[in-house]
Amino acid sequence: MTNNLQRLVIEPTQQRDREIFLTTSQQHYLGRVLRLKEGDRFIAMDGKGQWLLACLDATLTQARVIEVVAVETELPVAVTLVVALPKGNGFDQVVTQATELGVSCFVPVISDRTLLKPSPRKLERWQRLAQEAAEQSERQVVPTILEPVDFRHYLVGLNATNTENTQQYICVARNRAAMHLQTALNATRSPSIAIATGPEGGWTAEEVEMAIAAGFQSVSLGQRILRAVTAPIVALSLAAAALEG
Ligand code: SAM
Repeated sequence: MTNNLQRLVIEPTQQRDREIFLTTSQQHYLGRVLRLKEGDRFIAMDGKGQWLLACLDATLTQARVIEVVAVETELPVAVTLVVALPKGNGFDQVVTQATELGVSCFVPVISDRTLLKPSPRKLERWQRLAQEAAEQSERQVVPTILEPVDFRHYLVGLNATNTENTQQYICVARNRAAMHLQTALNATRSPSIAIATGPEGGWTAEEVEMAIAAGFQSVSLGQRILRAVTAPIVALSLAAAALEG
Protein backbone atom coordinates (compact mmCIF):
# COMPACT_ATOMS: atom_id res chain seq x y z
CA MET A 1 0.00 0.00 0.00
CA THR A 2 1.39 3.40 -0.98
CA ASN A 3 -1.60 5.52 0.15
CA ASN A 4 -0.12 6.73 3.41
CA LEU A 5 3.42 7.28 2.20
CA GLN A 6 4.98 10.74 1.98
CA ARG A 7 5.48 12.07 -1.56
CA LEU A 8 8.57 14.06 -2.49
CA VAL A 9 9.45 15.59 -5.84
CA ILE A 10 13.05 14.87 -6.87
CA GLU A 11 15.18 16.47 -9.60
CA PRO A 12 16.66 14.23 -12.34
CA THR A 13 20.15 14.99 -10.94
CA GLN A 14 19.15 13.40 -7.60
CA GLN A 15 18.79 9.94 -9.11
CA ARG A 16 21.55 7.63 -10.32
CA ASP A 17 20.53 4.08 -11.25
CA ARG A 18 18.53 2.88 -8.22
CA GLU A 19 19.98 5.43 -5.75
CA ILE A 20 18.25 8.66 -4.77
CA PHE A 21 20.40 11.38 -3.17
CA LEU A 22 18.24 13.51 -0.87
CA THR A 23 18.71 17.26 -0.56
CA THR A 24 19.45 18.72 2.88
CA SER A 25 15.90 19.97 3.26
CA GLN A 26 14.46 16.58 2.21
CA GLN A 27 16.76 14.82 4.74
CA HIS A 28 15.54 17.25 7.41
CA TYR A 29 11.90 16.77 6.46
CA LEU A 30 11.98 12.96 6.32
CA GLY A 31 14.35 12.44 9.29
CA ARG A 32 13.52 15.25 11.69
CA VAL A 33 9.97 16.31 10.84
CA LEU A 34 8.41 12.96 9.88
CA ARG A 35 10.90 10.97 12.03
CA LEU A 36 11.36 8.28 9.37
CA LYS A 37 14.09 5.70 10.08
CA GLU A 38 16.31 3.34 8.09
CA GLY A 39 14.10 1.06 5.99
CA ASP A 40 11.09 3.39 6.03
CA ARG A 41 9.49 4.04 2.65
CA PHE A 42 8.33 7.09 0.73
CA ILE A 43 7.31 7.92 -2.84
CA ALA A 44 9.79 9.85 -4.98
CA MET A 45 8.03 11.74 -7.79
CA ASP A 46 10.28 12.54 -10.72
CA GLY A 47 7.87 15.36 -11.69
CA LYS A 48 7.61 14.01 -15.25
CA GLY A 49 5.05 11.30 -14.66
CA GLN A 50 6.81 8.54 -12.74
CA TRP A 51 6.47 7.53 -9.08
CA LEU A 52 9.21 5.48 -7.42
CA LEU A 53 8.72 3.54 -4.20
CA ALA A 54 11.94 4.22 -2.24
CA CYS A 55 13.46 2.98 1.01
CA LEU A 56 15.68 5.13 3.28
CA ASP A 57 19.24 3.92 3.95
CA ALA A 58 21.02 3.97 7.33
CA THR A 59 22.50 7.45 6.84
CA LEU A 60 19.07 8.95 5.99
CA THR A 61 20.82 10.92 3.23
CA GLN A 62 20.04 8.44 0.43
CA ALA A 63 17.25 6.06 -0.53
CA ARG A 64 17.09 3.00 -2.72
CA VAL A 65 14.42 2.55 -5.39
CA ILE A 66 12.35 -0.58 -4.74
CA GLU A 67 9.98 -0.37 -7.69
CA VAL A 68 8.09 1.89 -10.07
CA VAL A 69 4.53 2.54 -8.85
CA ALA A 70 1.75 2.42 -11.44
CA VAL A 71 -0.24 5.63 -11.21
CA GLU A 72 -2.69 7.68 -13.29
CA THR A 73 -3.68 10.99 -11.71
CA GLU A 74 -3.29 13.40 -14.65
CA LEU A 75 -6.09 14.93 -16.72
CA PRO A 76 -6.45 13.19 -20.12
CA VAL A 77 -5.78 16.48 -21.94
CA ALA A 78 -3.11 19.08 -21.13
CA VAL A 79 -4.70 22.30 -19.86
CA THR A 80 -2.75 25.59 -19.92
CA LEU A 81 -3.96 28.54 -17.84
CA VAL A 82 -3.03 31.96 -19.22
CA VAL A 83 -3.64 34.18 -16.19
CA ALA A 84 -3.39 37.97 -16.08
CA LEU A 85 -1.51 38.40 -12.81
CA PRO A 86 -3.90 39.38 -10.00
CA LYS A 87 -2.81 42.03 -7.50
CA GLY A 88 -0.93 41.22 -4.28
CA ASN A 89 -0.16 37.53 -3.74
CA GLY A 90 -3.31 36.42 -5.58
CA PHE A 91 -1.36 34.29 -8.06
CA ASP A 92 -0.02 32.14 -5.17
CA GLN A 93 -3.56 30.93 -4.55
CA VAL A 94 -4.14 30.31 -8.26
CA VAL A 95 -0.93 28.23 -8.51
CA THR A 96 -1.77 26.08 -5.48
CA GLN A 97 -5.41 25.41 -6.31
CA ALA A 98 -4.98 24.97 -10.08
CA THR A 99 -2.13 22.51 -9.45
CA GLU A 100 -4.47 20.47 -7.25
CA LEU A 101 -7.05 20.53 -10.05
CA GLY A 102 -4.61 19.23 -12.67
CA VAL A 103 -3.27 22.18 -14.70
CA SER A 104 -0.29 21.35 -16.98
CA CYS A 105 1.16 24.80 -17.58
CA PHE A 106 0.76 28.35 -16.26
CA VAL A 107 1.45 31.38 -18.43
CA PRO A 108 1.39 34.43 -16.10
CA VAL A 109 0.68 37.44 -18.30
CA ILE A 110 0.84 41.18 -17.85
CA SER A 111 -2.19 42.71 -19.52
CA ASP A 112 -3.15 46.33 -20.17
CA ARG A 113 -4.90 46.57 -16.80
CA THR A 114 -2.56 44.37 -14.73
CA LEU A 115 -1.61 46.24 -11.56
CA LEU A 116 1.16 43.91 -10.37
CA LYS A 117 4.74 44.15 -11.58
CA PRO A 118 6.17 40.79 -10.45
CA SER A 119 9.66 40.65 -8.91
CA PRO A 120 12.09 38.10 -10.40
CA ARG A 121 11.96 36.09 -7.12
CA LYS A 122 8.23 35.42 -7.67
CA LEU A 123 8.78 32.68 -10.28
CA GLU A 124 10.90 30.68 -7.83
CA ARG A 125 8.19 31.03 -5.16
CA TRP A 126 5.43 29.94 -7.59
CA GLN A 127 7.48 26.89 -8.65
CA ARG A 128 7.92 25.88 -5.01
CA LEU A 129 4.17 26.26 -4.36
CA ALA A 130 3.38 24.16 -7.45
CA GLN A 131 5.77 21.45 -6.28
CA GLU A 132 4.22 21.36 -2.78
CA ALA A 133 0.69 21.26 -4.22
CA ALA A 134 1.70 18.48 -6.67
CA GLU A 135 3.06 16.41 -3.76
CA GLN A 136 -0.03 17.03 -1.65
CA SER A 137 -2.52 16.26 -4.44
CA GLU A 138 -0.59 13.20 -5.66
CA ARG A 139 0.00 14.55 -9.15
CA GLN A 140 2.35 12.68 -11.47
CA VAL A 141 3.58 15.88 -13.05
CA VAL A 142 4.61 19.19 -11.52
CA PRO A 143 3.08 21.90 -13.74
CA THR A 144 5.37 24.18 -15.69
CA ILE A 145 5.26 27.88 -14.84
CA LEU A 146 6.59 30.16 -17.56
CA GLU A 147 8.23 33.55 -16.98
CA PRO A 148 5.64 36.37 -16.87
CA VAL A 149 5.14 37.80 -20.35
CA ASP A 150 3.23 40.72 -21.83
CA PHE A 151 -0.17 39.37 -23.02
CA ARG A 152 0.14 41.00 -26.45
CA HIS A 153 3.63 39.50 -26.94
CA TYR A 154 2.25 36.13 -25.92
CA LEU A 155 -0.47 36.40 -28.58
CA VAL A 156 2.02 37.45 -31.25
CA GLY A 157 4.19 34.45 -30.31
CA LEU A 158 1.17 32.18 -30.66
CA ASN A 159 0.47 33.43 -34.17
CA ALA A 160 3.95 32.29 -35.10
CA THR A 161 3.51 28.78 -33.66
CA ASN A 162 1.24 25.96 -34.61
CA THR A 163 -1.78 26.01 -32.30
CA GLU A 164 -4.25 24.09 -34.47
CA ASN A 165 -4.25 21.21 -31.96
CA THR A 166 -5.14 23.52 -29.07
CA GLN A 167 -8.63 24.75 -28.19
CA GLN A 168 -8.10 28.30 -26.94
CA TYR A 169 -10.62 30.19 -24.81
CA ILE A 170 -10.61 33.70 -23.40
CA CYS A 171 -13.01 34.29 -20.49
CA VAL A 172 -14.95 37.54 -20.69
CA ALA A 173 -17.53 38.67 -18.14
CA ARG A 174 -20.90 40.47 -18.46
CA ASN A 175 -22.48 38.39 -21.26
CA ARG A 176 -19.93 39.58 -23.79
CA ALA A 177 -19.30 35.98 -24.88
CA ALA A 178 -21.76 34.03 -27.00
CA MET A 179 -21.12 30.69 -25.32
CA HIS A 180 -20.53 29.23 -21.84
CA LEU A 181 -17.14 27.53 -21.42
CA GLN A 182 -18.89 24.27 -20.50
CA THR A 183 -20.91 24.25 -23.75
CA ALA A 184 -17.76 24.99 -25.76
CA LEU A 185 -15.78 22.21 -24.03
CA ASN A 186 -18.54 19.68 -24.63
CA ALA A 187 -18.72 20.54 -28.33
CA THR A 188 -15.16 19.59 -29.29
CA ARG A 189 -12.18 17.61 -28.03
CA SER A 190 -8.57 18.36 -28.92
CA PRO A 191 -5.21 17.20 -27.50
CA SER A 192 -4.73 20.40 -25.50
CA ILE A 193 -6.69 23.34 -24.12
CA ALA A 194 -5.63 26.90 -23.21
CA ILE A 195 -7.86 29.15 -21.10
CA ALA A 196 -7.12 32.86 -20.52
CA THR A 197 -8.55 34.87 -17.61
CA GLY A 198 -8.20 38.61 -17.07
CA PRO A 199 -7.13 40.91 -14.21
CA GLU A 200 -9.32 42.77 -11.67
CA GLY A 201 -10.24 45.43 -14.22
CA GLY A 202 -10.93 42.86 -16.97
CA TRP A 203 -9.42 42.59 -20.48
CA THR A 204 -9.55 45.63 -22.74
CA ALA A 205 -11.71 45.30 -25.88
CA GLU A 206 -8.51 45.44 -27.95
CA GLU A 207 -6.94 42.55 -26.05
CA VAL A 208 -10.06 40.41 -26.61
CA GLU A 209 -10.03 41.28 -30.32
CA MET A 210 -6.33 40.37 -30.58
CA ALA A 211 -6.94 37.08 -28.79
CA ILE A 212 -9.83 36.19 -31.11
CA ALA A 213 -7.62 37.03 -34.11
CA ALA A 214 -5.00 34.65 -32.65
CA GLY A 215 -7.55 31.79 -32.55
CA PHE A 216 -9.19 32.21 -29.15
CA GLN A 217 -12.94 31.80 -28.67
CA SER A 218 -14.55 34.13 -26.11
CA VAL A 219 -16.47 32.28 -23.40
CA SER A 220 -18.56 32.99 -20.31
CA LEU A 221 -18.23 31.45 -16.85
CA GLY A 222 -21.82 32.31 -15.89
CA GLN A 223 -23.89 35.29 -14.84
CA ARG A 224 -21.84 36.41 -11.85
CA ILE A 225 -18.62 38.44 -11.88
CA LEU A 226 -15.87 36.24 -10.47
CA ARG A 227 -12.74 37.65 -8.85
CA ALA A 228 -9.53 37.48 -10.88
CA VAL A 229 -8.29 34.67 -8.58
CA THR A 230 -11.58 32.75 -8.74
CA ALA A 231 -12.08 32.78 -12.52
CA PRO A 232 -9.09 30.51 -13.42
CA ILE A 233 -10.13 27.99 -10.75
CA VAL A 234 -13.74 27.88 -12.00
CA ALA A 235 -12.55 27.56 -15.62
CA LEU A 236 -10.18 24.73 -14.75
CA SER A 237 -12.84 22.94 -12.66
CA LEU A 238 -15.20 23.04 -15.64
CA ALA A 239 -12.46 21.71 -17.92
CA ALA A 240 -11.58 18.89 -15.48
CA ALA A 241 -15.26 17.91 -15.16
CA ALA A 242 -15.71 17.88 -18.95
CA LEU A 243 -12.52 15.85 -19.49
CA GLU A 244 -12.95 13.32 -16.68
CA GLY A 245 -16.72 13.22 -16.32
N1 SAM B 1 -14.42 44.49 -14.22
C1 SAM B 1 -14.39 43.41 -15.13
C2 SAM B 1 -15.54 43.51 -16.13
O1 SAM B 1 -16.44 44.23 -15.88
O2 SAM B 1 -15.47 42.80 -17.12
C3 SAM B 1 -14.46 42.09 -14.38
C4 SAM B 1 -13.17 41.45 -14.30
S1 SAM B 1 -13.20 39.93 -13.40
C5 SAM B 1 -13.01 40.53 -11.76
C6 SAM B 1 -11.63 39.24 -13.79
C7 SAM B 1 -11.59 38.27 -14.91
O3 SAM B 1 -12.25 37.09 -14.53
C8 SAM B 1 -12.26 38.70 -16.20
O4 SAM B 1 -11.40 39.45 -17.02
C9 SAM B 1 -12.60 37.36 -16.86
O5 SAM B 1 -11.50 36.83 -17.53
C10 SAM B 1 -12.92 36.50 -15.65
N2 SAM B 1 -14.34 36.45 -15.33
C11 SAM B 1 -14.94 36.82 -14.18
N3 SAM B 1 -16.25 36.56 -14.21
C12 SAM B 1 -16.50 35.99 -15.41
C13 SAM B 1 -17.67 35.48 -16.05
N4 SAM B 1 -18.85 35.48 -15.46
N5 SAM B 1 -17.54 34.96 -17.29
C14 SAM B 1 -16.34 34.93 -17.91
N6 SAM B 1 -15.21 35.41 -17.37
C15 SAM B 1 -15.28 35.92 -16.13
